[in-house]
Amino acid sequence: MDGNDQYTWLFAPPGQQSAYPYAAPPSQPSWQLTPQTSHQPYSPNSGYNPQPTPAPNWAHLPPCPGSNLVQGWSWYGFENLVICPSCWASFASATPLAPLAPLQNLPIAEPRMCCLYSPRMRALWIEAGTNPSHAAVQQLLDFSLMRLEVYSATVPTVNYLRHQLMLQRSQAMHLSQMSTMYQGMDSMKIIAGTADKHHEYGNNQLGWFRTEHGATSAQFEMERRAAAARADDPGTLAVIAELEARWMAVE
Ligand SMILES: [Zn+2]
Repeated sequence: MDGNDQYTWLFAPPGQQSAYPYAAPPSQPSWQLTPQTSHQPYSPNSGYNPQPTPAPNWAHLPPCPGSNLVQGWSWYGFENLVICPSCWASFASATPLAPLAPLQNLPIAEPRMCCLYSPRMRALWIEAGTNPSHAAVQQLLDFSLMRLEVYSATVPTVNYLRHQLMLQRSQAMHLSQMSTMYQGMDSMKIIAGTADKHHEYGNNQLGWFRTEHGATSAQFEMERRAAAARADDPGTLAVIAELEARWMAVE
């Protein structure tokens, strides 16, 4: 069954019926839009619905991946404005632009991102559909292409930089554990009286310690501070904030 026939348009021109799929007018209850499995008569005025309300017909579809790139999915929509099966079934298929979309469940091996998870893109999609001229569609696709270019220029770099900061944070945590462990070994050796009383360990930068474990602990602590500083590097955080602002302006 073609999804386009099942529902009235989301935003119909004035004077025509307009409704969401699950807010259909009383003359055409939404539960009658899916095939009936039995032939029990049903009166909209009887006050009793013998048919349980069916689950939405997209309930079995994988959830929209949002702004994540996914590989090997099938897509709807247009080349520069691909739509995941979930957004297509729950939103786009019931709009005036749906019949104009050349991609209909087309498998694409390369990673792609659903363009209609975004409230901004949904609003533009609806706007283009109120008067679906070639120019209106082209304007929508031009914006979508520009948006994808901003995505490519920002989001992967943000993800990379965030990952680097996370690695530094985890490195700092590891160095902290190592420093604590050697500090413990230093203390035990001193308490046990096995530390060399005539020798100190370390250097002018680290300081001087009674055991080699004390010096090692200080070395780890110095490296921890450096890693923690890299994890909070103001320059990197500023680059991330700038790239995120660029993406959020069009997302
Ligand atoms: Zn989607």
